[in-house]
Amino acid sequence: MHGNDLARAIAHSYPSGVSLHVSTLRHRQRGSLKPALSCPQYAEPIAFFQDYRPLAVIDPWMRLMETLFPMLVEFITIGTSYEGRNISALRVGKNPDSSEKLLGPRKTLIVSAGSHAREWISTSTVNYVAYSLITSYGISSSITKLLDEFNLVFIPTLNPDGYAYTFSQDRLWRKNRQETSLPFCRGIDLDRSWDFMWDGETASDNPCSESFAGKAPFEAVESRYFAEWAKNETDNGNHEIVGLLDLHSYSQKILYPYSFSCSEHPPTLEDLEEMGNGLAKAIRFNNHARYEVVSACEGNTVIAKEGSKTLLPRMQSGGGSPLDWFYHELKVRHSYQIKLGDNGAYGFLLPKEYIVPTGEEVLRAVKFFGASLSSSAENEDTEAKYVTDSGISQQAMPGGVVDDAMDLTNDDPAKEDEVHEEIYDWDLRKRG
Ligand SMILES: [Zn+2]
Repeated sequence: MHGNDLARAIAHSYPSGVSLHVSTLRHRQRGSLKPALSCPQYAEPIAFFQDYRPLAVIDPWMRLMETLFPMLVEFITIGTSYEGRNISALRVGKNPDSSEKLLGPRKTLIVSAGSHAREWISTSTVNYVAYSLITSYGISSSITKLLDEFNLVFIPTLNPDGYAYTFSQDRLWRKNRQETSLPFCRGIDLDRSWDFMWDGETASDNPCSESFAGKAPFEAVESRYFAEWAKNETDNGNHEIVGLLDLHSYSQKILYPYSFSCSEHPPTLEDLEEMGNGLAKAIRFNNHARYEVVSACEGNTVIAKEGSKTLLPRMQSGGGSPLDWFYHELKVRHSYQIKLGDNGAYGFLLPKEYIVPTGEEVLRAVKFFGASLSSSAENEDTEAKYVTDSGISQQAMPGGVVDDAMDLTNDDPAKEDEVHEEIYDWDLRKRG
């Protein structure tokens, strides 16, 4: 990208002059919620998803979700950032704050984003999926079932200081904003700072590096809070984290453990690959976006891979990632990092027009994820049902249950094409 093009792309990726007020959103919520939601590709999506939003808008919006849907949504705080901002989250599920001890721990799926500040599409996607699930409860049978059985915890900005900084100072900032030993090089990489296989001493000991891991494991306060929160959730016996989807961008990849090394294989490799392939298929169904399913150690080391493989472990460290930590320390068997679109045409500066299509892709994936982890998934053919029974992209029947006849398990590409041309006028191929 030339300098001028980059400047233009950055300018274009910032929210346009239209500012979103919570009162506007509230009005739209009550007035025209269902028409807008029933088919976002046709109707104008609600104002909130027409652009990338700063924290000053996201946080009130999250609180509004709790206010509007108190039986379904709980606003929670995971921790506090280095500069003192809330790391906010929505816990979504039927009676999300009740302990239900008699029934055993409540199964929880975490959908997180924003570890890397500049990856705005990850943040908007978490909000889109949360909103879609919340507003489809009681309308879509599959989503109702999902939220009856699971809690989903949506964390749109794990790195709120960095995110704020990308709006105010540097659109391409990646790390948090913590001070380091070098006054002019702030920031720790939240994807390298966890204590499982942390290797800041070998690969990322330079505070000016984009992937600086800190001087010690969990020196990055946001990572430490996230880990403590997750441990608390499970230690108190009320919640069992069964899945993690940590969203990033870009390159369209679904990454599974381990990140720290390609020579260590996760004990449940086959399961991880199988689920990863299912997630990729669910995503592909929407817009034909192809996501590659690979081990994180490969997916994170693209540059080194093109050179010599023997240099991988030392050249580009993937240690200290929450992907590995959740898998290994918390025994979350289905732990993934998903790098969203695109494939590099826009990269981190993905235009706002992609917010809704990307949200739709991941919504499919999340529904597939939940269906696959459902206690009834073993015996029933529910996976396809979950994925195809969408209350979002299909026309919702008035006052009734959404019935989506599309079958994701259909592998006939010609038929898929037909379905797509009929329903979506979004041409993802332009991304290439
Ligand atoms: Zn990232």
